Amino acid sequence: MNDEGAEGLPANARERWVVTPEGVRLCVAELGDPGQPTVVLLHGYPDSKEVWSLVAERLRDRFHVVLYDVRGHGRSTAPRPLHGGFTLEKLTDDFLAVVDAVSPGAPVHLVGHDWGSVQGWEFATVRRTEGRIATFTSVSGPSLDHFGHWIAQRVARPTPRRAAQLLGQGAKSWYVYALHTPALPELAWRGPLGRRWPALLRRLERTPEDGYPTPSLPSDAAHGAWLYRDNVRARLRRPREDAYAHVPVQLITPTGDAFLSPHLYDGLELWAPQLTRRTLPGKHWVPRTRPDRLADWIGTFATAHEGATVPRQVVAGGAHADRFGGQLVLVTGAASGIGRAIAFSFAEAGARIVAVDRDAEGAARTAQMARLVGAQEAWAETADVADGQVMEKLAAKVAADYGVVDVLVNNAGIGLAGAFLDTTAEDWRRVLDVNLWGVIHGCRLFGRQMAERGQGGHIVNTASAAAFLPSSTLPAYSTSKAAVLMLSECLRAELAGQGIGVSAICPGIVNTGITATTHFAGVDEAEGARRRARVSRWYGRRNYPPEKVADAVLDAVVHDRAVVPVTPEARGAHLLSRLAPGILRASARVKPPL
Ligand code: NAP
Repeated sequence: MNDEGAEGLPANARERWVVTPEGVRLCVAELGDPGQPTVVLLHGYPDSKEVWSLVAERLRDRFHVVLYDVRGHGRSTAPRPLHGGFTLEKLTDDFLAVVDAVSPGAPVHLVGHDWGSVQGWEFATVRRTEGRIATFTSVSGPSLDHFGHWIAQRVARPTPRRAAQLLGQGAKSWYVYALHTPALPELAWRGPLGRRWPALLRRLERTPEDGYPTPSLPSDAAHGAWLYRDNVRARLRRPREDAYAHVPVQLITPTGDAFLSPHLYDGLELWAPQLTRRTLPGKHWVPRTRPDRLADWIGTFATAHEGATVPRQVVAGGAHADRFGGQLVLVTGAASGIGRAIAFSFAEAGARIVAVDRDAEGAARTAQMARLVGAQEAWAETADVADGQVMEKLAAKVAADYGVVDVLVNNAGIGLAGAFLDTTAEDWRRVLDVNLWGVIHGCRLFGRQMAERGQGGHIVNTASAAAFLPSSTLPAYSTSKAAVLMLSECLRAELAGQGIGVSAICPGIVNTGITATTHFAGVDEAEGARRRARVSRWYGRRNYPPEKVADAVLDAVVHDRAVVPVTPEARGAHLLSRLAPGILRASARVKPPL
């Protein structure tokens, strides 16, 4: 072993050589304290171990991190002859040789991406590795055996849905057929494709410009073609019947993977009884583009299975726990109503919650409840969203104490009713400061942090059905919400290229405390109080629960929806605003009997 930093890996990575029984020399790198639990990160095709460098860096403080170049890749030697030298059986020999060398006394947490995951499934399902693997995290690489059964089932019973799935995956697998042609892939990789691949990867996958892939790429890709030739046809034709995982498996599925359909994992629980599903917005090369999230999920899963008890967020959770477990979610206006319900829904999905409100006690209550309903962690922060300086301090504190926010919900808002000519400049300032400037401050400060991190995220802005529903009684409120809607649309266009989604939520009439605090312009305090009570009764009678708005928010993030009208009346008004705006204009003149 030497202590030189390995090329492309974090400083102080230690390298050693492991020689397999067949005489192949495998280049193994280690980071972190060997006394800690071992995580083995296995690369795919066409990659070398350095594909994991960003994730390894994030795990090294808590784990003994091990990476190795698969035979024929990076600095590991290739078998001779190549043909027949890359079978899954031989790759299992390599894995066991590495594990025996780096962690002789304890099973390892195995993580594989792409072909690293295809191999990982083999290791996690064959008997001779039993006791050597503690957990397996699979990223973007199915078991060839499961895939073989998946195809056979769909060919045997081709319902329209199953036939579409088959054709869809068939189209995504075009490169697999190409790699089976003799000599051509080698010529392409050692020639023009090899030269252009780094730029292609950056353009198509949006990987950072950080020197990856390593210079060994052309020979990695040429040798790696034998992974396909030695295994794919044989396994798909005759998949193993006993390919059951003997370890807990965490399946991380990127939502925008160009090579693998998420349907490949339908029914996976049959093969992997202890399965935890995770969904990650991103393309295929998530080890390069989403290292924070991957490292967090790998670390949490491994740690959970090191101890005697498995934390709640690892094994269970509310709707969308696969997507939001461990994510940092900040909600403004979280002390009451819709904001509180949103915080609870993300908490139920196992997120980490920052509950922000100007009502400190209310925010603290929300954080406390969020912990009880499933949040991995929850904190309360007091801030007036209308105050730019306060928001700057909040953004700096959140980044320093909790990290970069994955989902930002700009929800704080206040009501203001009354005719335009009765609305004072001060009324306008107050409602625009909170409803519009509050959203601007949030988007500007937290949106910048998300963009600078470069690992995606999502911003939700609470607008209102009033944004597309003109009214003679809510001119200031409606204007503030229309501005939020347009801001959201513009920002969505701007941030799309950085993997940051933006959604505008337009609730409709929801039973919250907002009616009790709404200011009525142009009337004295007694009349204002009477109107507040009356409107509160209407909202109470309508009784649409804020929890349903929260469901719509999580759904909007998962499906990256642009504009989400929530209640039936909001959906109807949204439709009319497009199809028959004249009707809305006419109804805007009707004065409600206040
Ligand atoms: P809510 O029950 O009054 O909750 C709003 C929360 O935001 C309150 O805790 C409030 O604190 C807080 N807040 C207000 N101004 C703030 C500021 N400057 N800084 C920090 N926190 C502030 O109202 P809601 O119905 O849940 O409203 C949430 C959002 O949904 C608002 O943007 C609202 O416009 C929108 N919306 C509501 C409805 C509806 O029918 N309820 C419909 C469409 C849209 P205080 O209690 O101290 O004011």
